Amino acid sequence: MKAQNWVQLRERMVNDQLRSRDIRSSNVLNAMREVPRHHFIPETVQHLAYDDRPLPIGMDQTISQPYIVAFMTEQIQPKPGMKVLEIGTGSGYQAAVLAHLGCKVFTIELIPELAQRATNTLHHLKYEDVNVRAGNGFLGWPEEAPFDAIIVTAAPEEIPPNLIDQLKDGGKMVIPVGSVSSLQYLKIVTKKGGHISTESLMPVRFVPMIDRDVE
Ligand code: SAH
Repeated sequence: MKAQNWVQLRERMVNDQLRSRDIRSSNVLNAMREVPRHHFIPETVQHLAYDDRPLPIGMDQTISQPYIVAFMTEQIQPKPGMKVLEIGTGSGYQAAVLAHLGCKVFTIELIPELAQRATNTLHHLKYEDVNVRAGNGFLGWPEEAPFDAIIVTAAPEEIPPNLIDQLKDGGKMVIPVGSVSSLQYLKIVTKKGGHISTESLMPVRFVPMIDRDVE
């Protein structure tokens, strides 16, 4: 497909899937308009890159629906220079959106093949402020903590305590919580004056966050 056509598909995605729902932040809308999502999608389904749905990225994993990426990004109110931890790198797309917004991104992926592929894609697209690590996200990234914000894109059954510890005071974490078989809720966790508050935003469906070592 020609470059211009991808641009049109992205423009349509922003209008029909994001603006028409409740995404209002102009910086988030701009990032969604500019980051080339199709580069993060396997060739077999690349033509569906800007559809209103999640897509398979191999290894039984998925890239989230564009709306969910925009919604989660908007929740942390990204600003240039913010240090953000992402759990579940997957394709690297969410990390690219955050980097495009000027965040310093640290992202952890359990499956080494996906971590490697995302590293290559991000490098190819010149997103330099993204650090990808193959590891278990339940441990967080203690050497780089605390983080201004944390975005978790796989669902644990409980909020991992290490991630709460690694959140800066005044920081926000957005995380889907619940088991695969039951309903998961997207939650926003806020830390203020050492006090933790949690709010449920909407029902969602994410792949499970798995607590094991990297092979
Ligand atoms: N944010 C991604 C989509 C993530 S899909 C994107 O933009 O494409 C969820 C990812 O979380 C999967 O790749 C899965 O392998 C990963 N994952 C599951 N459990 C994990 C864990 N404990 N630590 C890190 N990553 C994990």
